[in-house]
Amino acid sequence: MLVGKLNTHAESGTDMGQVQQAKKRRRERRNDLLNKYPFCYFCGGLNPATTIDHVPPEACFPKAYYPEEFEFPACFSCNQGARKHDQIFALYSILSDFDDQKFGNGPDRVRLDGLINAVKRNYPSAMPDFDAAKGIHRSGHIYTSQPVAYSAKTTPEMQEAAKFMEGKLTHALYLREVGKIMTPAHRFVAGIYQPQLDHTGALTEYFQNLLPNVTIGARPNIKAYGDRFRYMSGYKDAEDFFVFAAQFGRGCIIWGIVCGPGMRDPNIGPAGSMKPKAGGCGPDRTP
Ligand SMILES: [Zn+2]
Repeated sequence: MLVGKLNTHAESGTDMGQVQQAKKRRRERRNDLLNKYPFCYFCGGLNPATTIDHVPPEACFPKAYYPEEFEFPACFSCNQGARKHDQIFALYSILSDFDDQKFGNGPDRVRLDGLINAVKRNYPSAMPDFDAAKGIHRSGHIYTSQPVAYSAKTTPEMQEAAKFMEGKLTHALYLREVGKIMTPAHRFVAGIYQPQLDHTGALTEYFQNLLPNVTIGARPNIKAYGDRFRYMSGYKDAEDFFVFAAQFGRGCIIWGIVCGPGMRDPNIGPAGSMKPKAGGCGPDRTP
């Protein structure tokens, strides 16, 4: 894992009246969502949805900065079964975000400090060893006197949480873009990478050329929302074929490819020879 330096200023404007309005809109959307999709998005549309799951997790964003309309109908066990992974992944996604602007003393800094404390307390072995992190003195081909980033060893719990989030985000964004729930007859492959690493440029270019639609997470009540979550996606109706690549700030990218029931297994781009998993896997069966 590469960790950006965390040392500059952030600014944001929040209007309290607009916050109330946003809350009301959120409540209405929640009711609409459970009426529209009575079954869980994550375990194959088999269990009734009784809760709203946030994907990406709320912990990835400062309080009140959760992007609008990333809420999904979930059964209780899919929602609850994800808590540990959600918190650990949130820490990973923020640590690997290279947007210096956000991590001075603004809301993102508060979120990051809160997450570090929470993960230390709840899942101490998931914390990367920052004391052992190595400074990277290079930007492109230029060597720098001060480190531009730190390389820290990703813990097994972080890898597990990232793997989990690949599956969860694939199910959520498929529903968001296609309007249907992934079933066990769907197959998918998904992955995560840091675009700052040297060998990943071709992958990012591949998705940029392939995917026509760009969605940028935002909240209308926050003027300077910043660059916190966005994704590119494409869908082919005839084959029920869906591809996306989502980025957390200027940090990690999660991608996924979903094949409809009638399609052969995906073997395009990064999917290569990866073994696809069945859709509707839920938190327990996501490898
Ligand atoms: Zn479920």
